[in-house]
Amino acid sequence: MKLNFRPLAILTVVLLWTLSACQKDKELPDVNKTADKPLVVETTEPTKPTTPTTPTTPTTPTTPTTPSGPGVDCCRTKNVIIVIVDGARYSETWGDYSRENVANQYKLYPEAVLLGNFKNNGVTNTEPGHAAITTGVYEELDNFGQQTPTYPSLFQQFLKSTGLPAEKAWLIASKDKLEVLGNATKDEWAGKYLPRTDCGPSGIYSGHRSDRMTVGKAKFVMDQYHPNLMLINLKDPDSYGHSNLWDSYIQALKNSDAHIKDIYDHIQDDPIYKDQTTLIVTNDHGRHLDHIANGFIDHGDGCEGCRHIQFFAIGPDFKKGLGFQTPYEQIDIAPTIARMLGFKMDYSKGRVMNDLFK
Ligand SMILES: [Zn+2]
Ligand SMILES: [Zn+2]
Repeated sequence: MKLNFRPLAILTVVLLWTLSACQKDKELPDVNKTADKPLVVETTEPTKPTTPTTPTTPTTPTTPTTPSGPGVDCCRTKNVIIVIVDGARYSETWGDYSRENVANQYKLYPEAVLLGNFKNNGVTNTEPGHAAITTGVYEELDNFGQQTPTYPSLFQQFLKSTGLPAEKAWLIASKDKLEVLGNATKDEWAGKYLPRTDCGPSGIYSGHRSDRMTVGKAKFVMDQYHPNLMLINLKDPDSYGHSNLWDSYIQALKNSDAHIKDIYDHIQDDPIYKDQTTLIVTNDHGRHLDHIANGFIDHGDGCEGCRHIQFFAIGPDFKKGLGFQTPYEQIDIAPTIARMLGFKMDYSKGRVMNDLFK
């Protein structure tokens, strides 16, 4: 008797496809198990001044008893999204005057500020580079996720100062090892005010996942929680660089640029984010200059290629269509964000990048 395999085969394919679709859904952040408390976010819009009847003397500010909301002090920015394109060398981003690998960002340039002399002046590896951005301090950290930064992250400082729930600060990374960036070892910060994290396929020591997946999750989290502070790590340029695949490295830069445009559009399509969100695009480190060590394949020393990175930002408080050569650096990002969102980085060695502000 002849067995009829065809319907069986079709059934199997359909079954496998269904299973894989379920699997994909499972890979989205495990959010539905968390009860979503209605958030009471203070509206901190300055009230319109009424005509004063008598001249008032300024009172000295007292310590606020209620949590202060984002953007209280100076700025219209209520949310900051940082995108870190891992291991992109400046000579292939803004240092390439064809702009072909940053074509989408180049189109946004009339709305943006750009720094032409922005550096990682610490250890030019992934973990220390990211930590310099999130803590405002250069620290020699293990590059395999075995070591938590000493000083509190932007996320912790933000959550502490505002009293907002964890889901208002997110760390979303293609590289699992970046999960350590949420925390600090300093006594009074260890394990406290932690952001939500979604790093690698399923957290630390689970490996890497695709940037496409990471961006999907970031957009999902934006829709679901509207975090005020979010860091997104895209790994592909670094991964293809290490694999010595030049064309794939270049393609990864172009893909990252497309992801950035996608994230920017997602911000501007959302009434909660539109025109009150600052997007910062930067790198953790560059790659060796062509004549140093093994060139673009690697990074980690103090050569110009490893240090020189991009800084491109769009936000309601920043100037538009302007570039600066001021020698700002990675540790300046945290205090600049802190200024916009109205909190302090207690230990940061960086400075506020005043040139960027209108
Ligand atoms: Zn690398
Ligand atoms: Zn180098």
